[in-house]
Amino acid sequence: MVVTEDLAKFGQRELEIAKDLLTAYLENNKTKMLEDSKVRLCFNMDSGNVFLSDENYNVGVVVEKRHLIEKGRDDYPEVIYKKELVDWLHCPECGDEADRYEFEDWVTNGDTVEECCKEHLKEIKEYENN
Ligand SMILES: [Zn+2]
Repeated sequence: MVVTEDLAKFGQRELEIAKDLLTAYLENNKTKMLEDSKVRLCFNMDSGNVFLSDENYNVGVVVEKRHLIEKGRDDYPEVIYKKELVDWLHCPECGDEADRYEFEDWVTNGDTVEECCKEHLKEIKEYENN
């Protein structure tokens, strides 16, 4: 796995994602795992993923989240999409991974969820609530 922090190696697409990452980091950071320590922009040249990573390899990614505004413009309900920075969760046992929303949705509603992933999410929640 080749991960670079050299922006000169980022292509146009990767730089666009990097821009979204920094904007979300600044304005809409919903991560709970990402620590305030040695946060950097990374590009995985094998997978094409662009993300933020901290000293302990916690990872943040950008997702686009749908919001319903009950009273939008002219008092009509309105749907908007907002980019958020969220944790990238990775089950240490089976290696399944996804952004927080997908991971939680899958563990909560999926038919074929591994026990290890349920356990992993439970541990994360416990860690966050302490
Ligand atoms: Zn698992």
